[in-house]
Amino acid sequence: MNESMPESIVIIGAGATGFTAAKTLREKGFTGTVTLIGDEHAQPYRRPAVSKELLAGTKTIEQVLLGALADEIDFRHGDTVVSISADEVVLDSGDRVPFDALLLATGSRARQLDHLDGAPVFTLRTASDIEPLHAEIRRTGSLLVIGSGLIGCEAAAVARELGAEATILSADMPLSRIVPPAISELYLNLHAEKGVAIHTGVTVAAVEKLPDGTVRAIAEDGRSWEAGTVLVAVGSVANAELAVASGIETRAGIVIDAQMRTSSSNIYAAGDVAEVPNTILGGTYRSEHWNGAIDQGAAAARSMLGIGTDGLDVVDGLDVPWGWSNQYGVNLQFAGWTGSDDDYVVRGSIADRRFTAFALRGDKLVGAVGIGRPKDIRAVRALVADERPVDRALLADDNVDLTAVTVPLSGVRE
Ligand SMILES: Cc1cc2nc3c(=O)[nH]c(=O)nc-3n(C[C@H](O)[C@H](O)[C@H](O)COP(=O)(O)OP(=O)(O)OC[C@H]3O[C@@H](n4cnc5c(N)ncnc54)[C@H](O)[C@@H]3O)c2cc1C
Repeated sequence: MNESMPESIVIIGAGATGFTAAKTLREKGFTGTVTLIGDEHAQPYRRPAVSKELLAGTKTIEQVLLGALADEIDFRHGDTVVSISADEVVLDSGDRVPFDALLLATGSRARQLDHLDGAPVFTLRTASDIEPLHAEIRRTGSLLVIGSGLIGCEAAAVARELGAEATILSADMPLSRIVPPAISELYLNLHAEKGVAIHTGVTVAAVEKLPDGTVRAIAEDGRSWEAGTVLVAVGSVANAELAVASGIETRAGIVIDAQMRTSSSNIYAAGDVAEVPNTILGGTYRSEHWNGAIDQGAAAARSMLGIGTDGLDVVDGLDVPWGWSNQYGVNLQFAGWTGSDDDYVVRGSIADRRFTAFALRGDKLVGAVGIGRPKDIRAVRALVADERPVDRALLADDNVDLTAVTVPLSGVRE
């Protein structure tokens, strides 16, 4: 550990990022004060379960807790940090907690539509969102979801599993932010097969409550749909306000460098709230996936202590991101940086729902999405990090091991 090691560390946000950072600090031998402050009342839990097992009611919150906190963590839950300065945070309860180093792990919140006019809609992000939404789906027997990203699609799948009618309205094709058109098509068909009325190319212009208690969503083109319950699932917004108010640089999230440091030298940020440098493709990105939260929480803790992995840069342990989604028991995995506009090479069969689609920019592998082939996704993370050119024909050939698809660097493509 270096000479300027802090004696007191405050972490704001007790999600996966904050929890992992606190744990890592102790694992790495930090003996100073660690204060973890979270505004939710629940103990830290696995947020991905919110739109899956918890909404379905097949697991309880106790079954998805992240586990015991590391020793001697001062955990303040159910309290909100209302302001920060260079050496102190102020809580809603009036408490003030001084720090030498601060980690902003405040995550994100569900984006709202701005034309709801007080209509009774739900969003889905925290443990406290689950029970009211679950109860309303059961009571009304129907759910209309606005948005066809991961959370919207998962919630519609759960609604069907609960025996409710489900409708999805979306401007775009399902999951189009992270998968190519052929896989969006697969998800369109999967939901239709399971009885979801899924409508794309729909921009919802208004949502209104009807006299009988049901809710009507009205599209820009005048079409309308009614349901007992409406869930707005149109993405997330970084909880970056504390940083903005204290003059720390932000874009869509809090801007950090490769050491997870913000523009204020003793203040760090990680997880959903952070705008992370993309060391492979350039630019920045917000991870917004579970694995990124865990990796970044650990990396920020190491950075605050000045500890690298194997003596290398502090953030060298920050892996190529990956995530997953589970709908109707179909497990989609994705790694790297994929989008609907990338060029894809497919191994396996999309029709059989057992494939890996590799995303390429030129001859560079930048990510992959797949179903039923988790080993491929693990290999892709290593290949993307490796940054060597890949051979498209070898990538597509299922008989070729994924460790053998790179093109030798020596003189082949200069
Ligand atoms: C419904 C749902 C399903 C998901 N499913 C998947 C999935 O299947 N696979 C996957 O890879 N990823 C999934 N994700 C994404 C993944 O859960 C997140 O990327 C991850 O939880 C982010 O962790 P975080 O700790 O950075 O932020 P968060 O989990 O958002 O935690 C931040 C915490 O900080 C608290 N906080 C904010 N401001 C303050 C303040 N001022 N004072 C005190 N506390 C504050 C917040 O309330 C929150 O508790 C899902 C997300 C959601 C919402």
